[in-house]
Amino acid sequence: MAARVIDGKAVAARVRERVRAEVAGMETPPGLATILVGEDPASAMYVRMKREDSAGAGIESFHHEPGGEVSQAELAELIESLNADRRVHGILLQLPLPGHLDQDPLIAAIDPAKDVDGLTPLSAGLLAQDRPEAFAPCTPSGVIELLREAGAELEGARAVVIGRSILVGKPLATLLLRANATVTHCHSRTRDLGAVCREADVLIAAAGRPGLVSGEMVREGATVIDVGTNEVDGKLAGDVEFDSVAERAGAITPVPGGVGPMTRAMLLANTLRAARRQL
Ligand code: NAD
Repeated sequence: MAARVIDGKAVAARVRERVRAEVAGMETPPGLATILVGEDPASAMYVRMKREDSAGAGIESFHHEPGGEVSQAELAELIESLNADRRVHGILLQLPLPGHLDQDPLIAAIDPAKDVDGLTPLSAGLLAQDRPEAFAPCTPSGVIELLREAGAELEGARAVVIGRSILVGKPLATLLLRANATVTHCHSRTRDLGAVCREADVLIAAAGRPGLVSGEMVREGATVIDVGTNEVDGKLAGDVEFDSVAERAGAITPVPGGVGPMTRAMLLANTLRAARRQL
């Protein structure tokens, strides 16, 4: 194997430590409100981990579990009350919501100043307009942080992003453009994906298709970031065929242990940023 393996866990630990050290010097701690609706065990686990991360960084946690039967109006009211609560600087509405709730207007109700998940339409618009106050979603922010830590040169580099979701692909392409990369955006209708990928100095796979990227699609020495999180035979697998790609790439993220830990760490970084602006 030629490629250097980028250790997402170690980079995430450094981000968490940076946040913790900065929070320790603040008079008022940042506050993160989490809202968990319904009984989905995966959602409950994610929220628990996010609260543990917050506690470890000195961020105050305000947790709400309004119950699976909560109405649209009641949930909207809770969000409004958190928007108004001066102790709360970030709001995280864990998705997906149970089927009787209309997700989009509830996300849009979050004050953009507290939108630490970067999911509101206003945040997306601010990001697209390169406005400094915009919050980008945590996964694409984490990818940029990983690339920086890996020493990848983005200025003028050819970056290829596979996937155009609102959560990952689109904001990631915007962040790469902002870093002055030349960005090509691929998706399920892209013709000859392999030829496009072979142009990439930086290749990011966020398609949710296990093994989509194989060694012959990668340029010698490229940096490859695997966002994919797929379950294959009861195990976690990325979108990148690790062994064949590692033969050619210069650096590569593993799954698990690559982008995943960064997503959690960037929530803390965004909450700190939100608090700094509001305090
Ligand atoms: P999505 O399903 O919303 O979007 C997938 C995108 O991939 C689409 O834009 C589609 O056009 C593209 N695509 C699908 N098949 C393709 C193909 N054969 N060739 C080229 N493009 C193709 O998914 P998402 O929410 O963006 O997530 C993508 C992956 O990243 C999933 O595996 C998801 O689990 C993972 N993910 C990981 C994290 C993390 O923290 N590690 C966070 C979010 C998402």
